[in-house]
Amino acid sequence: MAPGEAHGRLEGRSALVTGAGSGIGAATARRLAADGARVYRVDLQGEVDRHADVTAPGINAELVAEAVARHGGLDILVPCAGISAFHPLEGHDDAYFDQVMAVNVTAVFRLIRDAVPALKRSPHGRIVTIGSTMASFGDAGLVAYGASKHAVLGMTRSVACELGPFGITANCLQPGAIETPMTAPAFADMPEFRVYWEKKAALGRLGQPEDIADVIAFLASDDARFFSGQGFFVDGGAMQRQ
Ligand code: NAP
Repeated sequence: MAPGEAHGRLEGRSALVTGAGSGIGAATARRLAADGARVYRVDLQGEVDRHADVTAPGINAELVAEAVARHGGLDILVPCAGISAFHPLEGHDDAYFDQVMAVNVTAVFRLIRDAVPALKRSPHGRIVTIGSTMASFGDAGLVAYGASKHAVLGMTRSVACELGPFGITANCLQPGAIETPMTAPAFADMPEFRVYWEKKAALGRLGQPEDIADVIAFLASDDARFFSGQGFFVDGGAMQRQ
């Protein structure tokens, strides 16, 4: 089977993807749809079904209700909306830290919480959160982002424990450096950053959004039915090098 080739394995499933207007979320929405899922796509902007700010009070319950109303249920949840920027610790303002936590953590918590009743009604509920290599390691200038991604991984593990009895799996995918609009400014401004990640990856290249989306589609499928509570790198082997 060619990379990215559709399976039809998600036929009849309903998915909700945030951050679906760009990068990894957009590739995920395309991939899930190619595998047969009906996807409700949410983002601040871009070609999606609903423009919404996932940090707005009450919005996550609304989004779940809309996805359920449109597609008759909810089987797959992918809270992918996220933000990141380099901010040195000295002079790091409270507002940016709070914003990162609001988008990357609180909104993910609210979306999962508000989706629980619908996911419990599904015979194959799946939650795939998006961590980062920064959910297991750290880096200069990424204090807020690193804190948020550690939180997402920790949250996912506890969600897996709590929802496992209902047949719902929860896993946290940890991408390495992926070429998306989020990382484009850093790769453009700091060519050495690109070279560093290309060399660090055992596969010798940066990741593409489809490299992540294909794994998310696997996690959403029945093939991954006994896989839960995991955080794992999808990074071309970058984290295996010292
Ligand atoms: P991206 O291309 O910037 O996509 C993220 C999307 O989320 C953007 O469309 C963004 O809109 C949207 N978004 C941000 N804040 C939002 C809000 N409050 N409400 C609704 N939507 C919002 O970035 P990406 O690289 O695909 O990142 C997707 C996820 O993967 C993120 O959680 C990120 O942390 C994670 N990740 C990325 C990498 C990487 O190397 N790219 C590595 C590890 C993990 P705006 O563009 O308008 O802000």
